[in-house]
Amino acid sequence: MHRFAYRRPESVDAAIQAARAGQTSGPPVQAPGQFIAGGTNMTDYMALDVMRPDTLVDINRLPAARYARIETNPQGLRLGALVRMAQAEDHPVIQSKYPVIHDTLKLAATRQIRNMASLGGNVLQRTRCEYFRETSWPCNKRNPGSGCAALDGHNRQHAVLGASQNCIATYAGDFAQALIALDATVETMGPNGARTIKFADLHTRPGATPNVETVLQPGELILFINVPAGPWTARSRYLKIRDRDSYQFALTAAAVALDLDGAAVREARIALGGVATVPWRAHEAEAVLKGKELDEDTATQAAEAAFANAQTRQHNAFKVPLGKQTIVRALLETQAMKV
Ligand SMILES: Cc1cc2nc3c(=O)[nH]c(=O)nc-3n(C[C@H](O)[C@H](O)[C@H](O)COP(=O)(O)OP(=O)(O)OC[C@H]3O[C@@H](n4cnc5c(N)ncnc54)[C@H](O)[C@@H]3O)c2cc1C
Ligand code: SF4
Repeated sequence: MHRFAYRRPESVDAAIQAARAGQTSGPPVQAPGQFIAGGTNMTDYMALDVMRPDTLVDINRLPAARYARIETNPQGLRLGALVRMAQAEDHPVIQSKYPVIHDTLKLAATRQIRNMASLGGNVLQRTRCEYFRETSWPCNKRNPGSGCAALDGHNRQHAVLGASQNCIATYAGDFAQALIALDATVETMGPNGARTIKFADLHTRPGATPNVETVLQPGELILFINVPAGPWTARSRYLKIRDRDSYQFALTAAAVALDLDGAAVREARIALGGVATVPWRAHEAEAVLKGKELDEDTATQAAEAAFANAQTRQHNAFKVPLGKQTIVRALLETQAMKV
């Protein structure tokens, strides 16, 4: 067992200081010290020896009244980073006015995990790539420069969009697809002060540095997630396709939000889960639909556009037709919603 210091600061400043004071050893991690919230991802990867922080900074003593709070107003949602997934899933305004967010939470993991897991931790969860999780394999994300065992290995779960020659790992989360579709932002605090980051800019594609997964600086904390309300938020849903209908990550998924004028699409928001290396907004598909009547033909054209640049490997080519069907079905089911 790797020994580590455990800190429980009660303020944001103290948490940032504690994270910066820690050192790293063993396989690379992104920050000197590591934050832990619900711990459902972090303890998993510490037990597997994938993450070996020398300092673990537990942020659960930050004031709950501020950071575990859901605020709603006509302009949108403000979600504290320590809000638990189950807490957000149960919120009546999220259920009625932001159904796509409710769906992404409800369809993730299990209720027991969602009782523990925080929203901030959820968006920063790390990939489930089998070769990342098992330290005897080469993996550029875990051990930069060592190679990627998935390229010619068992890559059925892996990404067909946004990959590089260095990493094809899928971004595993669901909630992030709702956030990117709805133009969310995150508010952070770090050693260099506060900033607001578009959710679409938070995660970075693997490129030549798959070990770098976000634009967050060492010791930078996510404090809030903001979701603006729009004419599309109420007519929205998340369709998640998986091998087993519970307790499974997505093979393919589509978060859809629509603003309709009769059958015509004023605006469509589409994000894809299970198929890309980062939360993935399908702008090309949205452009196909804008101003058109939504029916099976136009939905199919949009789905084709979404996967036009897909690159497949030996075992994951099935994700392209499945992903297209997921988009078509999600669009038509969202259109049929009674709002
Ligand atoms: C068996 C299983 C099945 C699952 N299935 C799904 C699924 O279907 N869909 C899905 O979306 N997820 C799924 N998950 C993932 C689960 O949702 C995440 O583990 C959870 O949301 C992470 O939240 P946490 O608070 O426990 O994060 P932690 O484990 O505490 O932290 C995760 C990461 O985020 C960092 N972090 C946490 N909070 C902050 C913050 N505020 N600021 C900066 N950094 C922070 C930590 O340092 C760490 O790197 C599954 C998990 C398990 C174990
Ligand atoms: S796909 Fe990425 S995470 Fe998986 S083995 Fe390759 S480099 Fe590692």
